Amino acid sequence: MVAWPLERLARVMRAREHEGGLNPAQREALRYLARANRFSNTPGALTRYLGATKGTISQTVMALERKGLIAKAARDARKSVRLTLTDKGRETLARDPWIELETAVEELGGKTRRRMQRGLEELLEREVTLGGLQSFGMCSSCRFFRERGREGDAKGPHLCMLFEDALTDEDRGRICIEHVAAV
Ligand code: SF4
Repeated sequence: MVAWPLERLARVMRAREHEGGLNPAQREALRYLARANRFSNTPGALTRYLGATKGTISQTVMALERKGLIAKAARDARKSVRLTLTDKGRETLARDPWIELETAVEELGGKTRRRMQRGLEELLEREVTLGGLQSFGMCSSCRFFRERGREGDAKGPHLCMLFEDALTDEDRGRICIEHVAAV
């Protein structure tokens, strides 16, 4: 029975997410913004990732801003907003229960960890497909990614064909709202 410990673990972790004067939605938003690429760090993308209403996300963003954990910046001429973690936000995230759990996972044996990761990814993919949800995957598994598309470009050697922009190695490890799995 694998689902039971998974459910119990999620509940235990959810209880810990109330520590430190934050709530689970605020913590989830911080984790998302720390992992999102530059095309995905907007309130709209955050709303779609969390599957929450615009009103709830707006309150979450305002609370995080008030606490000095995130900052808003103008994104482009269309006046959309970009959300980034402040130094205080990054410090808070370093003590996040899920980040601490990641450290515990690293301490598991290599074979156990690899199998667990593969199994959980497969389960997640199944649920995302069943629910018709966006994958929020990374560049390396995206149909728009070209490994050597911008070789010699100072902005980065890889290419996103959708945004027609260069990507760095760091970019390719971030999650993206426009990710579409390569077939
Ligand atoms: S290659 Fe795909 S995942 Fe990467 S930035 Fe482009 S659309 Fe997003």
